[in-house]
Amino acid sequence: IKIKVTKIDVPVSVASAFEGERVRKDTMFAEFGGNKTKCWELVREAELSEIEDHKITVIGPEIDDAQFAGADVVRLPLGILVEVAGKGMQKDFESVLERRIHYFTNYIDGAMHVGQRNIAWIRITKEAYEKGFRLKHIGEVLYAKMRADFDNVVDKCQVTLYTTQEDVARLEEEVVKPIYSQRDDRLNALTDESVDTFYTCTLCQSFAPSHVCVVTPERLGLCGAVSWLDSKATKELDPAGPSQPIEKGVAVDEKIGIWEAVNKTVAAASQGAVERVTLYSILEDPMTSCGCFECICGIMPEANGVVIVNREFGEISPVGMTFGELASMTGGGVQTPGFMGHGRHFIGSKKFMSAEGGLTRIVWMPKELKDDVAERLNKAVLELTGIENFVDMVCDETIATDSEAVLEFLESKGHPALTMDPIM
Ligand code: SF4
Ligand code: ZN
Repeated sequence: IKIKVTKIDVPVSVASAFEGERVRKDTMFAEFGGNKTKCWELVREAELSEIEDHKITVIGPEIDDAQFAGADVVRLPLGILVEVAGKGMQKDFESVLERRIHYFTNYIDGAMHVGQRNIAWIRITKEAYEKGFRLKHIGEVLYAKMRADFDNVVDKCQVTLYTTQEDVARLEEEVVKPIYSQRDDRLNALTDESVDTFYTCTLCQSFAPSHVCVVTPERLGLCGAVSWLDSKATKELDPAGPSQPIEKGVAVDEKIGIWEAVNKTVAAASQGAVERVTLYSILEDPMTSCGCFECICGIMPEANGVVIVNREFGEISPVGMTFGELASMTGGGVQTPGFMGHGRHFIGSKKFMSAEGGLTRIVWMPKELKDDVAERLNKAVLELTGIENFVDMVCDETIATDSEAVLEFLESKGHPALTMDPIM
């Protein structure tokens, strides 16, 4: 028997109208993630017999725990585990449902959600707290929305919120990261040439009405949370939903990534605002950006290459701008030649800026990002160009950030970008 869930039992309003709401430092009561603590989220399929529908558990301190009395801000590590079961449920749907955590949490009046996977970041306002909103209510909202929006596949849903350092760290290593890697590995076997269909994702049109992500096996959505497999599963789950297929047909230009079918679909999906996009170029009709990009890539003309800055990096980059400054130029659903928002995973893709010479254009990245993508990036560059240990030639903030010193470093390493064709 299916129970239709409509009413959500929480002390604040929950509606898509609250989606764009930011929670600033001075109005914030509690914070999870955002570089200060760990914060991950995971949706996992379970057997119907394994979970209890509507069971919501907080394991560890709640935000009104006595230890926080008088604290300026409550900061806790957080692990959100959503377990779903149902006859129509498939493993491929897990990450699709998981991405919706971002939207569902943002629907809460008084909550903000940024990021995904194990770089999620959540804030709750003082006002919501005073109305009685607690962490367990995030569980209530996720429960109700998962049941309501995915009632064709979710018959039971159970949410567990972990808030002790010990649990959050241990589960991240033992359970969460291995699942993320399994998902990534399945995707690594696919190339853009090996499929007949790309997909749109228009989930972010609620923020950026003209924005359309074109998702291919080798280029995931710029939020880093929507892969080609996810888009395919989204279409199955929700046939009229945000991911629609593009039968790609023959390419106009395979290197730059131009397809007639892509242009047509993007024009229709953006209500005519964007008529041409290329999939592999940062200069010629680059894809638009909404605002959720994990990284921004921008041209550094004097190095004949590009720098990449990730959201977590707070300092100024060699192009003279911070992530926030770059974001204000790149976001909003407009095309900005020379700047491009993208997911972390795209950095190890052989299609990355292939129109402008590809991965060897990368001259600078923050150290943390560099370490995170090193293995895939080195492997892709080696296969494309024969260059070994390419990451070693890429500068970072521990080596230099000002233009001249970056150039000196690149020269000392014989960085390939210096001798490539002029980028512009
Ligand atoms: Fe979809 Fe792109 Fe938004 Fe990600 S950033 S949810 S892929 S529209
Ligand atoms: Zn977005």
